[in-house]
Amino acid sequence: MDADERADVVIVGAGAAGLMAGIWAARSAPGCRVVVLDGARLLGAKILVSGGGRCNVTHDVVDATAYAGSTRPAIAGVLRRFAVPQTVAFFRELGVELKREDTGKLFPTTDSAKTVLHALLTGAARAGALVRHPCRVETVERTAAGFRVAGPWGTLAARTVILATGGKSLPKSGSDGHGFALAQALGHTLTPQVFPALVPLLLPPDHPLCALSGIAVPATLELWAGTGKRLQAFTNATLCTHFGLSGPAPLDISRYWTAARLTDPATTLTIGWLPDQTPEAVDTALQGLGRTAVLTWLRALLPDRLARTLCAVAAIDPLLPGRALTLPHRQAFVRTLTRLPLPISGDRGYNYAEVTAGGIPLAEIHLPTMESRRCPGLFLCGELCDVDGRIGGYNYQWAWASGYVAGTSAGLQIATAPRSHGATEIL
Ligand SMILES: Cc1cc2nc3c(=O)[nH]c(=O)nc-3n(C[C@H](O)[C@H](O)[C@H](O)COP(=O)(O)OP(=O)(O)OC[C@H]3O[C@@H](n4cnc5c(N)ncnc54)[C@H](O)[C@@H]3O)c2cc1C
Repeated sequence: MDADERADVVIVGAGAAGLMAGIWAARSAPGCRVVVLDGARLLGAKILVSGGGRCNVTHDVVDATAYAGSTRPAIAGVLRRFAVPQTVAFFRELGVELKREDTGKLFPTTDSAKTVLHALLTGAARAGALVRHPCRVETVERTAAGFRVAGPWGTLAARTVILATGGKSLPKSGSDGHGFALAQALGHTLTPQVFPALVPLLLPPDHPLCALSGIAVPATLELWAGTGKRLQAFTNATLCTHFGLSGPAPLDISRYWTAARLTDPATTLTIGWLPDQTPEAVDTALQGLGRTAVLTWLRALLPDRLARTLCAVAAIDPLLPGRALTLPHRQAFVRTLTRLPLPISGDRGYNYAEVTAGGIPLAEIHLPTMESRRCPGLFLCGELCDVDGRIGGYNYQWAWASGYVAGTSAGLQIATAPRSHGATEIL
């Protein structure tokens, strides 16, 4: 790329949000020069590994309650601009049919993330957007008539810039957080806390659950404030691993645990192994066991190894007949089965996090266009923003919606601007 090259719209980042923005910028401003730059050697690495290699493109039902970060009305406003039916129609138009699974998640019928990446890249090329890589952007500076975008590959003059650099999750895919610095250099702030979300949780290595690696059961994870108030709860599959807990429920609650611990170190997390039973129902069941051994009863409900471990945690002889349980024993057992405290020691960090919590506050963005309120001509979208969703396709839906709004708005800004602001006159 030579030093004099110019573009109407430069998009930094060719992940889900950046490719979406590139397609819609090019579609909204036919004949204009749209360039998407990405620092990664392998384009779309995150898309390829997402959803276990199948890419969970979206969810059947998406509303703002599935997200955290900026305010729900703000998130909802952007989501409404490109809703799930539009996502389905958009991918169909790109040749990708989506299918709904029982969980409500939508995947490509090919069960292959490659289909999704290929469609987005082909869609960008068809729309006329140029995707260039590896072109890591080191700086974006304001100029009199636009921006100067620079990196080891050279310099590009841009009339508008869309930042779609993602957050810090899975840094080896190219999303190393540099986009935050780019936005800050252009006048933005960052939320006080930025941390891994949808991330596995760590237990001390000698915790009994660490010896149960591979066991997965439905469970309820509940977050409690130091005051005893229940802050959050998720019931879903939970996987015991050698380091702690993974699977949908632990991933979903991880960001709430981290956020709560930052302000209240007395926050605790508990796990309930019998999610469809209240503590009272479990207590009643134990009282009705008679001569049946505790383990016999529990093995009918949970895997054998887990059942034995939970007896050990509650200091109960697994062969003890139910009727021999003392009141303190029974109470301890009910607590272990329904609200076992988890001494979480941390999380697995950005290398294992699916998303980043925190980012550029939506309050700094004009949401109908995703244009920066701090720097006209700059647009922001995707995970870079202070929005993170639950497991289930919600994070991609945010990327599609915010990328669509940013791309369309930047394209329209170019298409409707007087020619005197043309890129050829910049620099
Ligand atoms: C293992 C895993 C599985 C996931 N599975 C799902 C799923 O099934 N469904 C779902 O909804 N979500 C899933 N997610 C989350 C989802 O992938 C992200 O929310 C989404 O990719 C965010 O899109 P983005 O375009 O904003 O950021 P990213 O996808 O992170 O893309 C940012 C791009 O910007 C580039 N970039 C960064 N800095 C620079 C720079 N300075 N110069 C040039 N380029 C730069 C990066 O190389 C990258 O290509 C998963 C995430 C992970 C890690």
